[in-house]
Amino acid sequence: TNHCNSPYYSEVMQQLRSIFKLKSFRTNQLEAITATMDARDVFVLMPTGGGKSLCYQLPAICDSGKTKGVTVVVTPLIALMKDQVDSLLNKGIDAFLWNADTPHPTVSHRIYGSGPKPRLLYVTPEKLDGSSALKNVLKNWHRTNTLARFVIDEAHCISTWGQDFRDAYKNLGILRDEFPGVPIMALTATANQITIDDIVTQLKLNNHAFYRQTFNRPNLRYFIKDKKKVVPQIVDYIRAEHVGHAGVIYCTGRDRCEIVAEQLREEGLSAAHYHARMSNSEKDTTLADWQNGDVKIIVATIAFGMGIDKADVRFVIHHDLPRSLSGYYQETGRAGRDGKPADCVLYFHAKDFNIICKMIKNDRDREQKQDQAAINRQIEAAREVVKYCKNISVCRRVQLLQFFGEKFSKNKCAGGCDNCIDHRPVVPEDVTAISRNAVQLLRDIERMGDNITMARLQNILKGSNLAELRGKGYDKLPLFGSAQDQPKELLEQVVQHLQFIDVLAPVAVQNGATSYHTEYIQVSQCCIC
Ligand code: ADP
Repeated sequence: TNHCNSPYYSEVMQQLRSIFKLKSFRTNQLEAITATMDARDVFVLMPTGGGKSLCYQLPAICDSGKTKGVTVVVTPLIALMKDQVDSLLNKGIDAFLWNADTPHPTVSHRIYGSGPKPRLLYVTPEKLDGSSALKNVLKNWHRTNTLARFVIDEAHCISTWGQDFRDAYKNLGILRDEFPGVPIMALTATANQITIDDIVTQLKLNNHAFYRQTFNRPNLRYFIKDKKKVVPQIVDYIRAEHVGHAGVIYCTGRDRCEIVAEQLREEGLSAAHYHARMSNSEKDTTLADWQNGDVKIIVATIAFGMGIDKADVRFVIHHDLPRSLSGYYQETGRAGRDGKPADCVLYFHAKDFNIICKMIKNDRDREQKQDQAAINRQIEAAREVVKYCKNISVCRRVQLLQFFGEKFSKNKCAGGCDNCIDHRPVVPEDVTAISRNAVQLLRDIERMGDNITMARLQNILKGSNLAELRGKGYDKLPLFGSAQDQPKELLEQVVQHLQFIDVLAPVAVQNGATSYHTEYIQVSQCCIC
């Protein structure tokens, strides 16, 4: 390619081989490296495991680029920084981590001393935001033309659109203003367009080089399974398919992680939990046990993952519904980084959507930020996941990659997902009448001054002979038992679907009359699967 003609090519190749001991570049690595050495802003969008770190570690040790000096790397997780710095030091590269724990004499020596400056300086966004000492150092380097570039790793943390949003990332916009002329490189594995635009705007990237590649992970297989008795299901699955393999099980709550890990151990599986409430040393130990294979299965919240570099993860299981498709993609992306086959299994129950909605609302309450737009956005993101789970006719890869703006041909999935392995035709069922009756019943019951559960609504539609229904007089309602001939499963699905599309939530109360969405009419055209 024309990059071979780049003035930096020979130095870059030389460093790749001698220092990193690698033979060749992966997709877009060389391009991103030469662009940043050319002092351009660069945006690198690469799936987890794609090799983002090399894109800034390698130019940091080259001298032929247009800007010289220290490469400042901003990255959100201290554990991850330590790993990176250690592995750089092992390669003989002078990297330095400056955070709140760094002893003062060390800082004095390495940063203020007269010796050579580190090639890479790793800082957290909080440090960059809060430390005037660091700011002064950077200003000084800037003045003396020894600030080569800023690197913003996990750049999606700047965007409130994502689940990884970090407050201190918001202030990274000042880098462009306070350090004019210093190129910025932003890297992320989160590819949705809104987030990308947000990163570019907030970091004030200028005429940046943009590198993206396919997000398809050909060695991953995707499965959605009905969630029933989920832990026994998981145990059976692991025993059948993944004996002795390393894996991750994602759960929504911290307590849930502990319970599930315990249950797996009772079944003789090697499992440990991991979540944000643990102390750092507990986390480090658990992580080390898992990395070296003493523990096979980690049961974790989404606190576990960013920067985890274990190549031989053979399965990622979602015990609960993920909050967004991009989160789901990231989490599943931790499987099979060695390129060998790995499985991603999500256990789905429609109820999980309601749980997530409640959690989203509670999160916001706690933070006392009643930002309705943000709540809606997050609920919408969870809704996308439900749609993905419920769509049993379209290839999972086609669905997932479409979410990232990528067109994928179903033929290329090659049996890599449940929908391609076992093609289940969707039989449309006209549920308009049931839906109308359900909503009408709800109105009638509301007029009686009652609130009912979804389970009860199903029983009323079914006309169940239950004392609790008779006691309330529901058996006298004109529509009681109006769906008595319908299978229980169908009623359950209809009610869940109505709830999912928000039909059952009153939208407004005017003059004492409650009005509802009328979208339910279209349910007949949807696939109730
Ligand atoms: P990311 O940050 O994108 O998730 P990493 O930078 O951690 O990915 O790289 C993932 C793995 O790929 C690492 O083990 C790294 O050594 C390896 N890797 C990166 N670039 C190359 C390359 N050009 N050739 C071979 N291995 C590479």
